[in-house]
Amino acid sequence: MAEPLVRLENLTKNFPVGKSFFGRGRHYVRAVDDFSLEIFSGESFGLVGESGSGKSTIGRCILNLIVPSSGRIEFAGKTIFDKGKGIHLSYREMLPLRRDMQVIFQDPTASLDPRMSIGDIVMEGLKKHRIAEQAGARKTAGDYLELCGINRDLFLRRPGEFSGGQKQRIGIARALALNPRFIVADEPLSALDVSVQSQILNLMSSLKERLNLTFLFISHDLRTVEYFCDRIGVLYLGSLAELGSTGDIINNPLHPYTQVLFSSIPRDKPWLKPVWIQLQGEIPSAAPRGCKFHTRCPYSRELCAASIPLPEKAGKGHFVACHRWRELFQEAARDNAASDI
Ligand code: ADP
Ligand code: MG
Repeated sequence: MAEPLVRLENLTKNFPVGKSFFGRGRHYVRAVDDFSLEIFSGESFGLVGESGSGKSTIGRCILNLIVPSSGRIEFAGKTIFDKGKGIHLSYREMLPLRRDMQVIFQDPTASLDPRMSIGDIVMEGLKKHRIAEQAGARKTAGDYLELCGINRDLFLRRPGEFSGGQKQRIGIARALALNPRFIVADEPLSALDVSVQSQILNLMSSLKERLNLTFLFISHDLRTVEYFCDRIGVLYLGSLAELGSTGDIINNPLHPYTQVLFSSIPRDKPWLKPVWIQLQGEIPSAAPRGCKFHTRCPYSRELCAASIPLPEKAGKGHFVACHRWRELFQEAARDNAASDI
C-alpha cells in the first residue's frame, strides 16, 4: 500500500464551554476523542457521522487551523503537532506544508470574498506563496478556472455574478491552483442544489484522478461518500465506531450505528437482519460512559454502559468498536440462513 500522507495518533480536541458552577475550572466538550487514522497517498477517505460528531474539528486540526488538545499529527512524514514532544509548527514553519494541503468549504458564497474578482481570488494564494509573479499567476489561475469549468474570459467578474455550483467550481480552482497534494473537502456539496451536486462530485472525481490528489471527504450524505470514497470512517461523538473499505461499510456494516446510518439508503438487497432499526433520541451533547453509542443503541447491554469497546479487527482493514458485533453478526447470519430455506 502507498505511504500514509496524513497520520493522526490519539488526536484529542476539547473545547471549553462556559464556566463551572463555582466559577473555577471549566467545562469542556470533547469534540475529538483519542482518534487515530492514517490517510494514504492517492486515496479518498470519507468521514461520516451526524452533525456534531467532530468531523470538521478533525479536518481543522489537520489543516492546523485549530490547536489539538493532545495527540500527534504528521503530514508527508513531517510532524506538525506533537503534544508529548511540545512540537507545534508556527505559521511560518507551516507555510510550505500549507501549500500542499488545501480546503474546499461547504458554503462557496461565504468562502469567496464578494469584493474580489474571481481571478484575484484564485491568484491570491499563488502570490502569497510567491509561486508566480503577476503574468504567470494570471495564466495559472486561468488554467485552473478552465480546468474547473469556468471560462477564463470571466476572470474579472465577481463571485456574486455566478451560481452556487459555479462558485464552488471557483472555490475548487482556488484550492487547486497551489498544486496541493491533499484536500480537505468539508461537506462541499451540502450548500448546493441537488441538481448541481452530482456535477461538482464528478468534477472532483475527475480532478482527483488527473491531479493524483488525496482527499479527506467529510459528509453526512452517505450516497456521495459511497460514490467518491475508497475507505470510510464512521465517527460517533469524536471516536471511530467503524472503519473499512467502502465495500465493507456499505455491504457489511458491523457496528449498529453504521447500520442505522446506512439503512436510510434504499437497497434491493438488505445485507443483514438488523436493518431499518431506528435511532433512538438525539446525539447527546456529552459523551456517556462506556460505549458512547449505548444510550441510543437497540442492542445495548450492561457491558456496553460499563466499558469502552476497543476497535476489533473484523477483516482486512475493517475495524469495529462494538462489544457485541460478533454476536450480532452471527445471529443475523443464522436468521438470514433460516429465511433462505
Ligand atoms: P461536525 O463537523 O461533525 O458536525 P464539529 O467538529 O463541528 O462536528 O463539532 C464537534 C463538537 O465540537 C460539537 O459538539 C460542537 O458543538 C463542538 N465545537 C466545534 N467547534 C467548537 C468551538 N469553536 N467552540 C466550542 N465548541 C465547538
Ligand atoms: Mg462539520
